[in-house]
Amino acid sequence: MTRQAGLSKSRITLFEQCPKRLWLSVHRPELADEQPDMQRGFAEGHRVGELACSLVPGGVMVSAEGGMGRAVEQTSSLLAQGHDRPIFEATFAHDGVLVRVDILEPVEGGWHMAEVKNTTGVKDYHIGDLATQLWVMRNAGVEVRSSAIRHVDRDFTLEREGDYAGLFTDTRVDERVATIMETRAEVVAEARAVLASDEPPIERGDHCISPFTCSFIGWCSRNEPEAPEWPVDILPDAAGKKVAAKLKTGGIADLTQVPADEMPSPKLSRIHHATVTGEVWHEAEAIRAATAGWAWPRTYLDFETIAPSIPRWLGTRPFQQVPFQFSAHIENADGTMTHSEFLSLDGGDPRRACAEALARLPQEGAVIAWNMAFERSCILGLARHCPDLARVLESLADRLVDLLPLARRHYYHRDMRGSWSIKAVLPTLADIGYADLVEVKSGTDAQAGYLEATDPATSRERRGAIRDALLDYCRRDTEAMVLVLTALTRERG
Ligand code: SF4
Repeated sequence: MTRQAGLSKSRITLFEQCPKRLWLSVHRPELADEQPDMQRGFAEGHRVGELACSLVPGGVMVSAEGGMGRAVEQTSSLLAQGHDRPIFEATFAHDGVLVRVDILEPVEGGWHMAEVKNTTGVKDYHIGDLATQLWVMRNAGVEVRSSAIRHVDRDFTLEREGDYAGLFTDTRVDERVATIMETRAEVVAEARAVLASDEPPIERGDHCISPFTCSFIGWCSRNEPEAPEWPVDILPDAAGKKVAAKLKTGGIADLTQVPADEMPSPKLSRIHHATVTGEVWHEAEAIRAATAGWAWPRTYLDFETIAPSIPRWLGTRPFQQVPFQFSAHIENADGTMTHSEFLSLDGGDPRRACAEALARLPQEGAVIAWNMAFERSCILGLARHCPDLARVLESLADRLVDLLPLARRHYYHRDMRGSWSIKAVLPTLADIGYADLVEVKSGTDAQAGYLEATDPATSRERRGAIRDALLDYCRRDTEAMVLVLTALTRERG
């Protein structure tokens, strides 16, 4: 088979993750799995790229509208005319490889090249991207004096509405890029050879999820033998993953076939025992003893947050977790229960209203969370933002107690499959789970829902539907904690 296809920096990146991924992306793109999270990531990355360009005054954009050939011509013409201002999406080609450079800035004797990334630092895979661009540009005769990843500066704080000067910072990577650049001609030749051949016979492995989750996992796993019901991969944490990798290397994929003495820790032994026997590990007495002192009324609290890379609200930093929703179930000593909740979907800064709603929660009793470090950071962040409410909010934070470590220490059901997330634990102790929820079933769904609901283009009906789904989801999280604690303190029948 002889096929010809152009290469680009993203295709080279695919090739470097897995030659088969490049081949499938070019020749069988219809086989890709749907990846809505990736689409959201692209949209956010696009916004970051546009903002980075807007912060470089006097730049000229090389349009892609007339096709890439036209973009190469326009770039070449700008350089030939001695253009001495920044260029966005400057487009170059060499040896059939096309690159569009995010930002080129004139410097003494040539150009500074910046690749914009929606991260707070440089990742290894960024270097290959830059090296491909530099290789093409140098071969196209462009004097590139320096190269950098222009990433988000985590120390930036939005001080004035719309003023993002200082949001990005350059990390120079010249030396790392120079080393990788020397390999580009060879890499390009190999990628081209792969594209001209049949689908490469590459097995699945760790490379399928690093540095990116591949979109062809469904296709590549179609002929694999059915996984055992209790695979060794359910062993959690670094220790469990290490044991699982060793077992799989030895040809053992089924946890029920592993001798008990292969488990190196009491925790993994408990998981192994529960999985093999079906017996539940449950120390109700220990949980009762640990929770007996949790004062009434007990407030079960859970937040949903949004962490935009581009700060939306004054005083916030990139990727700062900002709570836009909470649910609180309040259980009294006599068994009665009330519910309180907060949700902001108007797109404005939700912190003040959220803090005020929190301040109306009981000012005594235990505040129960599942992994309380997160709730604590949300509450203390709100206390810093609203100093007049700091005392009452700090009191909430001081009264936090954590259900998760108790569950980890004293409970395991094999249906949890190595996870102590509330979503894994709840269905093993109660007749409900999360499957019946509509649309929002995870924190990631909640963030996507928030972004869609606060988009001015979203219809009122749609916003209402998202609102209902968000309220149901967050309420389920605190309801789950109530049910789980009740069940954990009861002896199993
Ligand atoms: S799933 Fe794995 S083996 Fe298949 S194309 Fe993707 S990275 Fe390659």
